[in-house]
Amino acid sequence: RQAEEQAAGRAAWVCYEPGMAAGSPLAEQLRRAVAEGQLRLLYQPIVALPDGALAGAEALVRWAHPERGLLEPDAFVPLAERIGVIGELGRWVLHEASTQAARWQKRMPALQLNVNVSPRQLDDEGFAGQVLGILERTGFFPGNLVLEVTEGAVIGEPASVAQLAVLSNAGIRIALDDFGTGYSSLRYLARLPVDVLKLDRGFVAELDGTSRGGAVAQAVLRLGQILHLDTVAEGVESEAQARELTLLGCHKAQGYFYARPLPPSDLERWLPVDDL
Ligand code: C2E
Ligand code: CA
Ligand code: CA
Ligand code: CA
Repeated sequence: RQAEEQAAGRAAWVCYEPGMAAGSPLAEQLRRAVAEGQLRLLYQPIVALPDGALAGAEALVRWAHPERGLLEPDAFVPLAERIGVIGELGRWVLHEASTQAARWQKRMPALQLNVNVSPRQLDDEGFAGQVLGILERTGFFPGNLVLEVTEGAVIGEPASVAQLAVLSNAGIRIALDDFGTGYSSLRYLARLPVDVLKLDRGFVAELDGTSRGGAVAQAVLRLGQILHLDTVAEGVESEAQARELTLLGCHKAQGYFYARPLPPSDLERWLPVDDL
């Protein structure tokens, strides 16, 4: 009975999280979570079309909360942005992912690692320098790192654009995440040093074999071709979607049809066998 009430309270708590005040316990716990080693990374394979061979992986953060279990990013990344710990969280993610991928790249030199960057991280004018410092310390190749950025007011700021340009010049690739969902996607394409378009999973879900269902996917992929960008479809859940994306010229795919986000030891099973 008590456990039940606790569970219900917990669920409600998580539901109401977006409106929570910055001084609430969850916020205080999140402030300490990085230092206390409570964050984890999962890695979701990104495969080449049509053969499904591993091309890379996207790092996705989780919070192993001592009482609530494994929390998904929707439950704490927006909070981290609001209370100003996203910079620290982002640095941890980048360092952890680079450390891991530096080992993996010995078995697979072309492995691409995608890391999500919150628009808020670009507020910090030291961001580009921090990224380059982390790559140097971990030995992960800049050319193998893909930073995924989404729309946010700050990305239009000249200072943020300049930081992305520095990173781009260092060989790091920039992906526009959730492409097609924001109203200024097209403007970003003109302003930022973009290398990769990630077609949002909402448009992949509309692929149903009718020309209308796939209209946005088709337009985004065509845009990618015209601009010579790498294209990655997100949220691919069926073979039919993978087939249609291949026909539309999409280069890569990611989604439950291939694999869920995996702990590092499971991602390793996707790597070429180490013949040393
Ligand atoms: P995203 O960058 O769009 O990441 C893809 C999300 O789609 C992941 O959710 C992934 O688990 C989910 N997904 C993958 N394949 C499928 C599929 O076939 N079907 C469906 N329905 N979903 C699929 P997740 O891990 O819960 O992450 C949610 C969001 O949290 C991410 O969306 C990203 O915006 C943010 N996020 C994750 N990790 C980080 C991080 O390290 N830093 C920052 N700033 N944001 C992060
Ligand atoms: Ca999720
Ligand atoms: Ca992403
Ligand atoms: Ca996305």
